[in-house]
Amino acid sequence: MQEKKKTYTFGPVPSRRLGRSLGIDFVPFKTCSYDCIYCQLGRTTAKTMKRKEYCPVDAVVNEVKEKLKKVSPPDYITLSGSGEPTLHSRIGDIISGIKEISDVPVAVLTNGSLFWIEEVRDAVSGADLIIPSLDAGSEETFLRVNRPESGILFKEMVEGLRVLRENFMGPLWLEVFITGGITDYDEEIAKIKGLTDYIAPDRIQLNTAVRIPAEEYAGLVDIQRMEEISTFFGPSCEVIADYARVHSLGEFSSTGDDVLELLRLRPCSVDDISAGLSLHRNEVVKYVQELLDKKLIRMEKRRGEKLYTGR
Ligand code: SF4
Repeated sequence: MQEKKKTYTFGPVPSRRLGRSLGIDFVPFKTCSYDCIYCQLGRTTAKTMKRKEYCPVDAVVNEVKEKLKKVSPPDYITLSGSGEPTLHSRIGDIISGIKEISDVPVAVLTNGSLFWIEEVRDAVSGADLIIPSLDAGSEETFLRVNRPESGILFKEMVEGLRVLRENFMGPLWLEVFITGGITDYDEEIAKIKGLTDYIAPDRIQLNTAVRIPAEEYAGLVDIQRMEEISTFFGPSCEVIADYARVHSLGEFSSTGDDVLELLRLRPCSVDDISAGLSLHRNEVVKYVQELLDKKLIRMEKRRGEKLYTGR
């Protein structure tokens, strides 16, 4: 049997923040400098801060070029996927390579853990938009929520974000993930607010565990409390955690139907759906969540594995 060729692009997928976003995934699955308790992709299997050329730059850029010939122009080309993109040592060349072949704005969705390294800040300087994360107001909660690789220090990480903001010419939107039961109380929120004032991003975007998290104890914060927190952060802050509306876009609903059809035939894990329908895991997670919300499927655990079944 012929081996399935590795692909680096997925979508365009609907994104509340970025419209139609063509995703680029060029760091292996769950190769990440964090192991966030809320990660929708499960626990990190390769925790590292070692940067290297995980895949050839030309292969990524050529695939983007070919993909753009086949789809209507997306609103953004987004460097994200299932591993931390700044771990690719040539992310800067990937950004410049894409900019050479397309006018579509390039966004980098990153955990923001490595911007205290000048080389990493320089590498992303050619992007049009950077969206890093900050999920804690203190070292203690940082270790609890993000479970970083040991060489990543909270203070250095925060300082890296501040210097990035100072030097980067384009917009910087900071995503703040609020974890129910851990960071959703006033004292911690005040600490996070102190840091966002210090970093001074153009926007602050609040998220919470609307998708199934890696650890069950990573709680979902209800929308009222999220709005309250957003008001506390001020006018540049918005809640982005409500994804329900995004998935009803006509172009994407047929794929949701395919997922449902498959799950009515047999129980599948996210990986099974991904392999069966040739969809990226990130896309599958969105469809599965939508179908769960609509109560069209149910989740059950078998030998520790999450399986989804159509009703
Ligand atoms: S949420 Fe992002 S940063 Fe956190 S473990 Fe998952 S992929 Fe890594």
